[in-house]
Amino acid sequence: MSQHEPNNHDRYSRQVRFARIGKEGQASLGASRVAIVGLGALGSVLSQHLVRAGVGYVRVIDRDVIEWSNLQRQMLYTEQDAAELLPKAEAAALRLRAMNSSIQIEPVAADLTAANAEELLAEVDLILDGSDNFSVRYLMNDYSLKHNIPWIYGGAVGASGMTMTFIPGETPCYRCLFPEPPPPGTTDTCETAGVISPIIDVIASVQAAEALKLLSGNANALHRTLFQVDLWNHTWLPLQMSHARREDCPACSKRHYAFLDHTEQETVAVALCGRDSVHLTPGTKPTNLDLEAIAAQLTTAGRISRNAYLLKIFLSNDITFVLFRDGRAIVQGTEDPAKARSIYAELLGI
Ligand SMILES: [Zn+2]
Repeated sequence: MSQHEPNNHDRYSRQVRFARIGKEGQASLGASRVAIVGLGALGSVLSQHLVRAGVGYVRVIDRDVIEWSNLQRQMLYTEQDAAELLPKAEAAALRLRAMNSSIQIEPVAADLTAANAEELLAEVDLILDGSDNFSVRYLMNDYSLKHNIPWIYGGAVGASGMTMTFIPGETPCYRCLFPEPPPPGTTDTCETAGVISPIIDVIASVQAAEALKLLSGNANALHRTLFQVDLWNHTWLPLQMSHARREDCPACSKRHYAFLDHTEQETVAVALCGRDSVHLTPGTKPTNLDLEAIAAQLTTAGRISRNAYLLKIFLSNDITFVLFRDGRAIVQGTEDPAKARSIYAELLGI
């Protein structure tokens, strides 16, 4: 073997030497399949740890494109990505493949919803939460319980964050701890309260270590707490949750998966908090749009720029319309979902 070819014996040697993983654990990592939901700050760290550790298959799912405000903490991306407005899933896959070409990486540029969760989360052993919103977490929780697959929750805002590893049948579930989503606008987000990048690494690294334990056959080493960290005040707080399972929990006790079963077929418009943008997901099945033909049709609507994944139309009134090949869109310059929906309908006639 030449020194220029991948050498997986050397590549994983330090990890194999760590006795709790060893050769057997490494082989088990190589045979494992993981989905990472969200490729922002947490997802950047999670994906790099798992890919470098040699997890055999990593599906990376994200709906968004790279913006300049991401670069302060989303370690996978570069200025060039922001300038080109690349989808995070595609840019992430390029970087991750350059780190480890001996495993399989599958990028999915899509919004995880009730309509596609069964498809996008299928055939994995573990789901990692790198998302930034509650609806996706309730969806992952439902899917995890229904299919008996663990998931590892993580969230960070400001200088603090929390994480917990949910194992169906063993631990409480996310809904035992947080029975209902909070009303919109009542919780801090990275957009309203900001975030410093070191807290991201702490939370995502705890998640990644838990993933390595689970996938290498060391579930006995899981921390089994709701772990909270505040880096500004330097508080590290593992909260015992062994008695937090609720007998009346609709999800894990009654097996009623309200978030997963919610599959209405209309366009979903979600304001991207604090970003003056609305994300639109059409209710129909994802399509494969002919962006070239659409661009030709819409030349009178405004100046158009394109890359391989999307087209961007600069409309009048400071509105920018970004259309993805699968029919999703981001309308920049408004926080009004109804206005965004009507722009979508006007331009595409859907
Ligand atoms: Zn529960």
